[in-house]
Amino acid sequence: MNDSKSEIIECLTTMLGANGVLDEPVDCERYRRDWARHELGAPLAVVRPKNTQEVAQVVGFCHEHRVHMVPQGGHTGLVKGALPDSRHPEVVISLERMTRIRNIDPPNFSMAVDSGCILEEVKRVAEEHDCFFPLSLGAQGSCQIGGNIATNAGGVNVLRYGMMRELVLGMEVVLPNGEIWDSMQALHKDNRGYNLQQLFLGSEGTLGIVTGAVLKLSPRPEQSQTALLALPSIEAAVQLYAQARRACSDLLSAFELIPRQCLEIAFEAAPQLSDPLDSAYPYYVLMELGASGPVDLPGMLERLLEAGLEDETVLDGVLASSVTQADQLWLIRESMVEGQLLRGEHLRTDVAVPISAIAECVERASAAVTTYSPESLVIAYGHIGDGNLHINVLPPTQTPAEALPALFEQLESAILTVVDGFDGSISAEHGIGRSKQAAYLGRLSATERRLLAGIKAVFDPDELMGAGRILPLTERSSSSS
Ligand SMILES: Cc1cc2nc3c(=O)[nH]c(=O)nc-3n(C[C@H](O)[C@H](O)[C@H](O)COP(=O)(O)OP(=O)(O)OC[C@H]3O[C@@H](n4cnc5c(N)ncnc54)[C@H](O)[C@@H]3O)c2cc1C
Repeated sequence: MNDSKSEIIECLTTMLGANGVLDEPVDCERYRRDWARHELGAPLAVVRPKNTQEVAQVVGFCHEHRVHMVPQGGHTGLVKGALPDSRHPEVVISLERMTRIRNIDPPNFSMAVDSGCILEEVKRVAEEHDCFFPLSLGAQGSCQIGGNIATNAGGVNVLRYGMMRELVLGMEVVLPNGEIWDSMQALHKDNRGYNLQQLFLGSEGTLGIVTGAVLKLSPRPEQSQTALLALPSIEAAVQLYAQARRACSDLLSAFELIPRQCLEIAFEAAPQLSDPLDSAYPYYVLMELGASGPVDLPGMLERLLEAGLEDETVLDGVLASSVTQADQLWLIRESMVEGQLLRGEHLRTDVAVPISAIAECVERASAAVTTYSPESLVIAYGHIGDGNLHINVLPPTQTPAEALPALFEQLESAILTVVDGFDGSISAEHGIGRSKQAAYLGRLSATERRLLAGIKAVFDPDELMGAGRILPLTERSSSSS
């Protein structure tokens, strides 16, 4: 970067107008922090383009003047990818003003949107047209479609509808040199050579800025059944999951494991909630079935429960009798994440193992944590149907703040070593960003490193976009900043 900060801001302001550029510290404050209240560096400036052309202009300028950039969506990412860097000044490119629904084509089950659209709004518009956009996660009121694409977001409906990777038909991207790559096609089938689009799913803002997307919709489920079931063990949950898929014609859309401690943590964050069952049980499963068309969902669920009660996989349960009651049950699941945040700094992991190995993995990981830190509380919950677990650790309350990073490093390493033993993934959902970079790099083969570095070099040879996320800064890039 050769130009002074004021020269850069002046040029950006000429392009976007005063409203499109923020550089006063007080105005930039909220773009420095993510949902988990992490912060690293201050942005050089925050730009807020209104359309793809403006994004291309800004990126082209930054490329020409060797200014580092980071795209930012709804700040709900959990691996610090969207936070401006502390080592080199970065322009934050926020997509928050790009919120246009471009079109919706119900017979084609597709919808074209600007990437700054909030997920919840996209879901609402799809429903208005009797369609369904299935991506569902706790942050859906804030996260943006561009962020969902960049992190290849998952959520609670993955087992039926897949991750974001399976929900995008077309895409528009501003490449790190300012070129616009327009592939906004609404095709359900296309098999032409390498799939460039898929490279941007999970790229975490390191290969380009997603400015638009054509999303794949499904028919709106006309009926759904939600149940919270109490179970004796994780083994029982895994067994019930297999039974549920078979007994319910594969209409299961969510199957979430919740240990008792998580229920209590959820109540701390949402005191209006109460225990849906009369007694406390070691584990719960929150499950949902959904269908359109004449399907007897209540009958299916009842038969599944009867069989579960009979073979004692299920100890007790409540079936939601209304949408409001179903929402209350889902609020428990959503409040668990907020509740952990309220308890203070904690270790979050996001791993995957084969479904059949879930119980053993949790047992071994808990034992590994207890060996290092007997007073810590391990809570393991997650999306059973995807083998995706959050094995999180709440440290003893008296632990001094300065001791936490070393403790978390030790505990994370212990948990990930257990996951390695099952040939699992150290990041099943949240991505790599900065938080998981060391663990990720340490597990890559030389071949994988070479191929990944090659991909980055094709898209962003000057390492100006999202530099230092997923892959480390190279010496060349560090010295140029
Ligand atoms: C309460 C809570 C629950 C969550 N539950 C889930 C869950 O169930 N499943 C799940 O997968 N995730 C979950 N997350 C994580 C998070 O919501 C997702 O990662 C989400 O997809 C991030 O979107 P965002 O718009 O907030 O992106 P940001 O946090 O703003 O950015 C995330 C990354 O994407 C890049 N980026 C953002 N926008 C663009 C763009 N337009 N083009 C290119 N790159 C871009 C950023 O540079 C950054 O690297 C949860 C988070 C919270 C806080």
